[in-house]
Parts: sequence; structure tokens; C-alpha cells
Amino acid sequence: MAAVPDPTGVDVGRGGAQGYAADWARAVRRIGFVPLSAAETERLLLLHTVRLAQVVRADPFSARPAEEVGRALVEAHLTEPRALEWSLRALGDEFPARVLPPGDRPADLGERIAAVQGGLAAGFARALRDRTFSQQERIARSAWQARDEVEQALRDSEARFRAVFTGAAIGIGIAGVDGRIIDVNAAFADMLGYSIEELCEMNVAELFHADDAAGMWELYQELIEGKQDSVRVEKRYHRKDGSIVWTDLAVSLIRYDDGRPRFTVAMIEDITERYELQQRLRFQALHDPLTGLPNRTLFFETLGRVFDTAGPGQRVGVCFLDLDGFKAINDSLGHDLGDRLLVAIGRRLAECVADHGHLVARMGGDEFVILVDGGDDVDDAVAVAEAALAAVAAPVHLGDQQLAVSASVGIVDCPAAETTASELMKAADTTLYWAKAAGRGRWAVYDPERSARDLARSALVAGLPAALDRGEFVLHYQPIVSLLEGTMLAVEALVRWEHPELGLIGPDRFIGLAEETGLIVRLGEWVLRQSCHDAERWRREFPDARLVVSVNLAARQADEPTIVATVADALATSGLPAELLQLELTESAVMGSAGEPLRSLHRLAALGVRLAVDDFGTGYSNLAYLRRLPIHCLKLAGPFVEGIRADGTDAVADHRDERIVDALVRLAHALELWVTAEAVETSVQAERLRALRCDTGQGRYFGAPAPAEEITARLRRTTA
Ligand code: C2E
Ligand code: CA
Ligand code: CA
Repeated sequence: MAAVPDPTGVDVGRGGAQGYAADWARAVRRIGFVPLSAAETERLLLLHTVRLAQVVRADPFSARPAEEVGRALVEAHLTEPRALEWSLRALGDEFPARVLPPGDRPADLGERIAAVQGGLAAGFARALRDRTFSQQERIARSAWQARDEVEQALRDSEARFRAVFTGAAIGIGIAGVDGRIIDVNAAFADMLGYSIEELCEMNVAELFHADDAAGMWELYQELIEGKQDSVRVEKRYHRKDGSIVWTDLAVSLIRYDDGRPRFTVAMIEDITERYELQQRLRFQALHDPLTGLPNRTLFFETLGRVFDTAGPGQRVGVCFLDLDGFKAINDSLGHDLGDRLLVAIGRRLAECVADHGHLVARMGGDEFVILVDGGDDVDDAVAVAEAALAAVAAPVHLGDQQLAVSASVGIVDCPAAETTASELMKAADTTLYWAKAAGRGRWAVYDPERSARDLARSALVAGLPAALDRGEFVLHYQPIVSLLEGTMLAVEALVRWEHPELGLIGPDRFIGLAEETGLIVRLGEWVLRQSCHDAERWRREFPDARLVVSVNLAARQADEPTIVATVADALATSGLPAELLQLELTESAVMGSAGEPLRSLHRLAALGVRLAVDDFGTGYSNLAYLRRLPIHCLKLAGPFVEGIRADGTDAVADHRDERIVDALVRLAHALELWVTAEAVETSVQAERLRALRCDTGQGRYFGAPAPAEEITARLRRTTA
């Protein structure tokens, strides 16, 4: 440290002022925090030591400069009270001896030291007070400033809120926890058609739509009770004029600082247009555009709900309705008329069940379904089906056309717990098919046992192709006998299946499904070839018998484009002359699938084969057509012959059936057709049929279907 010059005779050496200042500096640094380095502190205190020495020796004496030293200590942040205490004590105890040279001490040194101590203490205290004061002032000032800023911020946010509140396109409303409306903005008022003032007199509950009121209060209550802080729902409100406005509503809760609910703030947006569009889209998605009826999606949705909510023991019923022959109407009269027919039928169905609250849906095409709501038993569903059939059956007037249509209905009714929606509809579909197969224009009720039999049948038919390959089929032949002479003129080939496990199976158990699956085509061709083969053998052995073989031709087979070639080939391969082959077609097969006479008929007739209409009288044959068709024979269906009841003991004839047979035979003869009566079981029946001039008869009375050898034996007997 550089030596300090001593103009006033102060001993500044190491033992004097410098040593004193060093001790002083050490003391203050030990006592409290000093924001100066050790050297800086020592240099500062050396200046004050020298200064104090000058004050004590000055003439005239004044203690005032000592106050400056006290103040300077505070300004240098040497503010610890204990540091002041040390400074004052050292000034009394050590200062004179260490800093003031002995020969140069004033006489009143004691008083002067005391005055300097007082001055220094006073300066220190005053400076400290001033500093504290200014510090407080600074704090106060910044506190004020801060408060101003907060208030400004509040004012800003309030202004911003106001701007949003008044200017928002969204409706904003503030209500008390009791629902009383406190304030709303213009958008809110506009949306509901009230003035702001009117709304501020109201309670939010008055705006709820009647249907939602309960639910809305519940939501509101949850909010107010603090269970939720905000809710968002799509709700409708009443406008002042009574109309409805759909809104997207968001309500949030504003609380007091202590958490108690204070206000609710609701923001509503008018979504009426969007809502209506959505409803329209939903309607479109769930309704059939042609008839406006619910579509299959809505039907299955509703059915699913019935199953989901069904109580114990509740029944569910459906009537599955399909128009009969709609395709023919569409094909012959055009799709436009077909569409109009569907619209008319749809409207009638909807009207006939409307009172009972049943759902009518269009499943597609000409299929409709009625969901029978809350029926007690199957009779209720049957009643619905009958009403629907009656509604369909009434003639439909479309422009100057009058159409008579019929429908078939499959009915399923069972406890909801016992089935599923898809099982139910599958059963309805199966049952509809039964109704169609039973002759259309009627209903059928689902029968689980029959369905099981059907299933067994389909399992059987699945094995049919392999059975053909293994040669498990055989033909039995049934004689067709001249009623006048009693001679066997023909035999009908009837197929049987020699099943390795089930034994001999009759055609009724597999022909139907074979027709549906198309397997009949292969099976039928086998029957045809085998029949021709057997008949050719008989012809060779008994040429004079001129025995005709009559082969059943399924509609599906007759429809095949290759049928003429197949028949020609069967004849050529076997060598059988065409006139010894007769093909039996049902009325519907004769009319073909499009409702027009089959084109192949003429080509088959041109081959020289005979054509017979099988089961005549059970279909809808258009008698006028018959004349134009190359038909040779009518086979009167069993039921007509059955009607000519004769049990041998008392011959009670049903005159109505007899008259029909009489008329048919006359008609057939007028058209130069032969008539064969089927299912002739008694001699009396045979006698009457002969009297009615039927040409030939077939049935147990003349011989049951039998293996080819038996026919051979019979031929041998009669020609012998
Ligand atoms: P269908 O063509 O009407 O054949 C006559 C049916 O009447 C035969 O039944 C025959 O056994 C039965 N029948 C014979 N005598 C009497 C009688 O006195 N009273 C009664 N009520 N019925 C009698 P089957 O053999 O069971 O054949 C049933 C049906 O299966 C046939 O009816 C025919 O439609 C069909 N079918 C049989 N074989 C073939 C075939 O090879 N191809 C095709 N497509 N169908 C066949
Ligand atoms: Ca037949
Ligand atoms: Ca028949």
C-alpha cells in the first residue's frame, strides 16, 4: 500500500493510522457483509481515519465533519450496527494513542473525542434513516406502479371482453346460478328473437325446448354444483316467435376466488341450417328414394334396437313380403311403370300398418318387410300379413292401365331371446321361399323343423354330383295305359337314388333342390339317355308294342340352350326313333322363364319327339297359347282325378271336378291333344275317366313305378 502523505502531522505509518485503519477494516468485514474487497475497505477506512484525526486536532474544533464520516460509512454499505459500535469504541479506546502523535494532542482531547464519537454516530444514524426511507419510497413507488399496471391490464381485458362480447357473431349470455339472465350480447338476443332487455328479465329455463327441459336443468345443475366446469351440447331453443333454433351450446362456470360457483357463461352458435342438412342427409341415408319408405339400413337399425331393449318374454315378428312375378311386369310394361307400381304398393303397405305403429321398410327390388311391434303370438303377425296381402291384391290403376299383382309373405315370430336379427331375417327369407313354392299369393309361417329338413335336403343334394359319378341313380318306369283298350302305350321314367346309407330315396327329396342348384341339368341328361337306351331295348324286343318312353324335363333343363342338341344326341346314340320319346314339361316350363313360350319347343317338336304338359291344371296356363304350341298331350294333375272320388263301395262323384275334367278333355280334343289322367288309383276312377273320354291313365291302379325288368316282363306277358 502506498504511503499516505501526512500534511497535518497524522502518524500514517504501519503502527499509526494505517495500522488502525487495517484493524478497523478487518473488524467491519468480520462483523458483516461488506460489498468491497479487503484492500478497498482498508483504503476507504484509512481516508476516514486520517480525516477523523484532522477533525480532532483542528482549530477551532468542530465535530460536524465526523457526521460526514458516519454518513460515508452508510453510503459504503458498512451499515451493520455492531460495526458502528466497534468504530465508536475504537475511537475512544485506541484512536488517540495509535493515530495522534503524543506531542501534538489538544488539551481537551477527551471532550473532542467524545464529540467526534457523537458526530459520527449521528451522521451514521441519519444516513441510515435516509437510506431506509428512500428504499421504502422506492418500494412504495414500484408498488403503485405495479398496481397501475394490473388495473390497466384489467381495464384492457375488460375492454377486450366487451369488444368480443358485443361484437361476437356467437351468442354470449351470462346467468346467475339460479338461471337468471344477467347479460347477453346482441348476437344472443338476435338468435332468440328477443331484445337484450327482454332477455335480462328472463330465466334461462324459459328458453329451453319443452322436450329437453328436464335434461337441460340436470346439466345446468351439475355445472352449478361444480360437478363439471363446462358442458357442450347440441340443443334447440324456443325463439320468441315460437320457432325453433338449433344451437351448439357451450356453458362454462365462473367461480368466486374461494371456489363457489358465481356465474355461468353460455356461448351459443346457430347451427339450425347445419342441423337440418344433417337431418336431411340422415333421412336420405335411411330411406328409399323411390318409395320414401325406411330402407334396409334403418330397418336393421330398428330391429337391432328391438333386440337390444327386449324385455323377458318379448316377441319379435317380421313379415317378409315379395311381389309375385314382378320381373315379368317390369320386363313387359317397362321399368317406369314398374317403379310406379312399387311406389303404390309401398304407400298401401305403409297405410295398412300405420295405425299399429309397425315399421314398413323396402329391402330392395320388390321386397318389403314389416316389423311387427309388440305382438302376443304368431296370430298377430299373420293378421298383419293378411292385411298386407289384401292391400297388395286390390287392383292398381296406373294411368289407363290396371294391374293386378299378388305377393308372397314369409312370417317369423318368436321370442327375441331365442334368436338374433340375422337369424330372424334368414328364417324370414326361407319362409318367403316356402310361400312362393306353395303357389304364391299367400303367407307361410316359419317352421324350425321344416327348416331343419330343408337343411338335410341341401346336405343330400350336395352329394348329388358324386352320386351321379358313382352311378347311384336308377330309373323306375310307370305304365301309361289306354283307358279304352287297357294296353300299355307308354311308360314314364321316374328317377330314384340308391343311397348307400339312406337306401332308396324318392325324387321328391332331391329334385326340387337339384333344380334350384342347377344340378338337375346333369341328372336330367343321365335320365334322358338311360330312358332312351331302355326304350330302344324294348323296341327291339317288342317292336309291335311301339312303347313310348315319357321323360320329365325340368324347367331348368328346358331352358338350357343345348337342350335340343342333347335330346337329338340321346336319340342318335340310343337309336330310338324320335316318335317313341315323349318329354313332359310343366306349364311354367312350357311358358319359359320370361313368361313367353319356350323357343326350343318348336325345335324339339321338329325333331319328331312328343311333348306333354305335366301336372296340367295346377299352373296358370294360358289356354289360348296352347293352340299355337307344338304340344301333343296334356297330363291332368293328380288332384283333379282325386276329386273324382270313388272308393268302390259308394261311388260318390264330386261333380265339380268331373265337370272340370269333362271341359278340359273336350278342350284338349278340340286342340287335337291327347289326355292322360294321373294318379288313377281305383277302377271306378278309371271307369269314369274313360266315360269322360280321357285317352290314357297312369297310377297305382294300372301299375306302380317299377324297375325296367318288370316292364319287360309285362311286355312279354301282353305280347305273348
Ligand atoms: P310326376 O311327374 O307328377 O310323377 C308322377 C308321380 O306320381 C310319381 O312320383 C309317381 O310315383 C306318383 N304316382 C304314381 N302313381 C300314383 C297314384 O296312384 N297316386 C298318386 N297320388 N301318385 C302316384 P315320384 O316318382 O315320387 O315323382 C315325383 C315327381 O318327381 C314327379 O312327379 C316329377 O315331377 C319328379 N321327377 C321324378 N323323376 C324325375 C326326373 O327324372 N326328372 C325330373 N325333372 N323330374 C322327375
Ligand atoms: Ca311327370
Ligand atoms: Ca305329373
